[in-house]
Amino acid sequence: MSRIMAGSVSVIRSLRCTEFCGVSSARGFRTLRWLPLVLVAVLGCESSKKANEVGSQVSQPPASGSPASAPGAALAAPGTMGPSLRIDPAKAWQYTKEIVAIGPRWDGSQGQKKMGEYIHSRLKGDQVEEDPFLAETPEGKFTMRNIVAKFPGTKDGIIVLGSHIDTNYPLRHTNFVGANDGASSTALLLAIADQLRGKKLEGYSVWLAFLDGEEAIKSWSDTDSLYGSRHLAQKWQQDGTAKKIKAFILADMIGDADLDILRELHSTPWLEDTVLQAATRLGYQSYFFADSNEIEDDHLPFAKIGVPVADLIDYTYGYGGAYHHTTEDTLDKLSPKSLQITGDVILETIRLLNAGAGAPSAPSPQKAQ
Ligand code: ZN
Repeated sequence: MSRIMAGSVSVIRSLRCTEFCGVSSARGFRTLRWLPLVLVAVLGCESSKKANEVGSQVSQPPASGSPASAPGAALAAPGTMGPSLRIDPAKAWQYTKEIVAIGPRWDGSQGQKKMGEYIHSRLKGDQVEEDPFLAETPEGKFTMRNIVAKFPGTKDGIIVLGSHIDTNYPLRHTNFVGANDGASSTALLLAIADQLRGKKLEGYSVWLAFLDGEEAIKSWSDTDSLYGSRHLAQKWQQDGTAKKIKAFILADMIGDADLDILRELHSTPWLEDTVLQAATRLGYQSYFFADSNEIEDDHLPFAKIGVPVADLIDYTYGYGGAYHHTTEDTLDKLSPKSLQITGDVILETIRLLNAGAGAPSAPSPQKAQ
């Protein structure tokens, strides 16, 4: 995962600093900046309010007829939206356990090699491509590779789902296994693949992007992080793929048993609204967007090339983030239910996008934030 952005509203700092800063420094979260969480504590109320507002919009019965172009607007009637797909949470859980059992999977490790082999073994018979590249890092050149699985649809356009497949490099001398941070979202993509496989997808193609080198090798910066996503975004911009991508939905740290996915503020608002709409349709809206913040994660390189993006991330992992980037990030902190919620919401989001949810077709005034 990802770095939370530094905030600039120091006046709010005193509100919950003892709660967050104390815990974080005790745990040695040097890359984290907890001040924004303080801001979140304040903004959370506002964001919850917004979430409720959006939720109330989508709770109205959808009108039948032509697909809508604006988020939150009427979509095709459920019967005309194509089948609802749901993940098998037992499978998602099994995959999470199997990935954790590989052990640490930092770039350059045997575990990372095994991780690639494992992904291929779970996608046997699917259309899978490797995207190898050489990453220039502060510790020298690293051989990395993204893995992309493609499930073709009948509609022109692509929805990409992403997860990072590496574990934290600076923690390589510990037994950090990244159960939530790396394993859970990758397992989720594999469970989603199970639902896409062998079906005629009446909608956009769905591609699964297993992204290498998300974590910083030394210290998080624009050039020391997001190696795989930066490489893939550049490649897809150059070969014209980027123009076909209707949405890039990233999952990160979504196995947390205490699931609380935040509204990520670098993400594309209409796409996040569509995710919330999907969550609301399934009755899962209370797990989404109670808080909001800016997170640097694998969605950013795609946002920079004009792709609509949504980062589905639960950043509050353990009290004050106590499990994040520590050896406490283990299976016992996760739950199959959280994988199910996130997986089903992603699949429902795809269904909404296929039915016409999307960017406003005409320029509209920016929402006040
Ligand atoms: Zn991480």
